[in-house]
Amino acid sequence: MTTTTKIAAYQAGARDPGTASNFIRSMTRRADPARVPCGGCTGCCRSAYLFADLDAEECGRFPDAVHSDVVGGMVLPKREDGSCTYLIEGKCSIYERRPRACRVYDCRDRLLLGAFDGNDPVMLQALQEWAPFRTPTGEDMDLLSAARAAVQVDGLPETYKEALAKFWAVYRRPKQWRKLMKVAAKFRRRFAAMPVDEVRMLYAELVASATARCKTLGETRRAPAPGSMVRCLKSPVGPRRVAERRS
Ligand code: SF4
Ligand code: SF4
Repeated sequence: MTTTTKIAAYQAGARDPGTASNFIRSMTRRADPARVPCGGCTGCCRSAYLFADLDAEECGRFPDAVHSDVVGGMVLPKREDGSCTYLIEGKCSIYERRPRACRVYDCRDRLLLGAFDGNDPVMLQALQEWAPFRTPTGEDMDLLSAARAAVQVDGLPETYKEALAKFWAVYRRPKQWRKLMKVAAKFRRRFAAMPVDEVRMLYAELVASATARCKTLGETRRAPAPGSMVRCLKSPVGPRRVAERRS
């Protein structure tokens, strides 16, 4: 079975986010603008939870900018439904002069980290339209596992922002990152040698223990919302991917 056939099997019409290793490399030298194959998606422009924040120069260019208590600064205005007022008939009406926040935004970070804000239905829908990251090599699989493990160091994060900060905190410490990569490789080899049913059981236990751990943190951390962090433990880097590789 080729990689392309595997992706097509996930969801008809799903966009290919590329390989995990290419994406992580692109994160570390993120270009302006980010090259995201969005197709017809406008999720981040419609999300009530995402804001196009503006720097001082951009505030001068957008006299209709408003202050956001959430961001703690000036942002582009939104409609009542949470969408950006510059989104007109499904398109950005100021595409060539959109602010930097819009130019560099790449929702695939969330896909990579398995960090989805469960209270944002618009972004959840947008993220579901991507196929999983491709992992054609062992390194790709280990990078994806290590990235998802990094965001869970010292407990599950509450938000995507926290997850991203945790990822960078580990990724920028080569010693820690190498350690996680080693653990990921060890797990991959172990899973590859195990019958698929046993892998599934192991993942079920991992999900249960991650959820229980989250609950025991009580006041400081809440249990993950359905479809949020728990989902990353069920993702294709786990048993499903192993099952495909074995077939
Ligand atoms: S949510 Fe992602 S795919 Fe959709 S428009 Fe935004 S960056 Fe593009
Ligand atoms: S300015 Fe354009 S790209 Fe930015 S949020 Fe608004 S519609 Fe989307």
